[in-house]
Amino acid sequence: MNQNDALEELQKQVVRRNPAEPEFHQAVSEVLDSLAPVIAKHPEYKDAKLLERICEPERQIIFRVPWVDDSGTVQINRGFRVEFNSALGPYKGGLRFHPSVNLGVVKFLGFEQIFKNSLSGLPIGGGKGGSDFDPKGRSDNEIMRFCQSFMTELYRHIGEYTDVPAGDIGVGARELGFLFGQYKRITNRYESGVLTGKGLGWGGARVRKEATGYGTVYFVQEMLAAQGQDLEGKEVTVSGSGNVAIYAMEKVHQFGGKVVACSDSGGYVYDPAGIDVDLVRQIKEIERGRISEYTERRRNGSDYAAGGSIWNLPCHVALPCATQNELTGDDASALIRSGVLAVAEGANMPCTPEAMKLFRDAGTLFGPAKAANAGGVATSALEMQQNASRDSWSFEYSEQRLRDIMVEIHRSCFETAEEYGRSGDYVFGANTTGFSRVADAMLAFGVI
Ligand code: GLU
Repeated sequence: MNQNDALEELQKQVVRRNPAEPEFHQAVSEVLDSLAPVIAKHPEYKDAKLLERICEPERQIIFRVPWVDDSGTVQINRGFRVEFNSALGPYKGGLRFHPSVNLGVVKFLGFEQIFKNSLSGLPIGGGKGGSDFDPKGRSDNEIMRFCQSFMTELYRHIGEYTDVPAGDIGVGARELGFLFGQYKRITNRYESGVLTGKGLGWGGARVRKEATGYGTVYFVQEMLAAQGQDLEGKEVTVSGSGNVAIYAMEKVHQFGGKVVACSDSGGYVYDPAGIDVDLVRQIKEIERGRISEYTERRRNGSDYAAGGSIWNLPCHVALPCATQNELTGDDASALIRSGVLAVAEGANMPCTPEAMKLFRDAGTLFGPAKAANAGGVATSALEMQQNASRDSWSFEYSEQRLRDIMVEIHRSCFETAEEYGRSGDYVFGANTTGFSRVADAMLAFGVI
């Protein structure tokens, strides 16, 4: 069997063995698509069945999360933790609380995390977890009771040397506080390194909150610099208005670009004068409100559109920072028609396979999530370092570390693509570099 047939057969096997998990199939297919040249160069990977092993999580935990809502009604949710790969370090990856969460979604995220974490160059394996719990409209007390119940099962599976969860969609400082408090109470250990994204007053790290968004923009800046360009004066569209989007927008403005639009699940705002990031932060992060409130409070002639696609707006740089499969083939065509220069994925897998193909065929600079949004988890690994040494670094130093990491990720993806004659193909570069590091460690460990 030749390389491509073997990879195709493996893809079919993944689909057969993991039925009804389309997001997981998509994530696997995107990685396998890149790997034929690497396997050809390294027959030892094939003999050790490394690809087959990487596609099978080391451990999958599914549990019941019962809790009582404010009206006294018992609610049941489902909790997940997929410990995907620990070749490079303890399992590392966030928790997502969103009604769309199911095993397939957690597996896609966990699979992505393996390669992203490897690319960061830091000693972290890949995992992900979450629940189909919907935090929207829930009181703080309900969130607390849910988090306590979730941790009452999760605590036995995690630890600073085992598995280190963090936040993701629906899980921020508030939820991490409740989760850490319950872990500490059950185990009687102040084990700071068991969770990352913690509050600054209780073991958290400076720049962690900003890191995913800042990192994405550093990556864009590197992609543009490799073409002799930069963000100065560029118009940028950012989807989403959560943690990743807010700090991506802030960093674009610091680099002299102008963010003209952002969104939430209800619609998008277009603000030709440049998005007021403090106002978005006030509405979304502090008040937990809707982006539709932006236009009324901004009073400068910005527009709100309920529904419709934010990607129909012309821009130089597009940063999808909301959620998976939010940018479709039609959206990609619209962006290409309007002359988009660069696209970088702040969210995990926000571009559909069709959209990715269109960007790559059109020669658009395309930063895949594994590389472009790795700054968040990389700064989580820096938080683990600070916790291990009971130290706390300054904002400036932490940001410099983040920047150096993003520059290095860009360099390794860029150079790997060159080495294989795939110049400018960051998808290929990211998959290949991320995979090779994990594969080499797994080879060293033998068949385990
Ligand atoms: N959820 C984030 C991601 O997708 C961060 C994970 C972490 O910090 O562990 O990479």
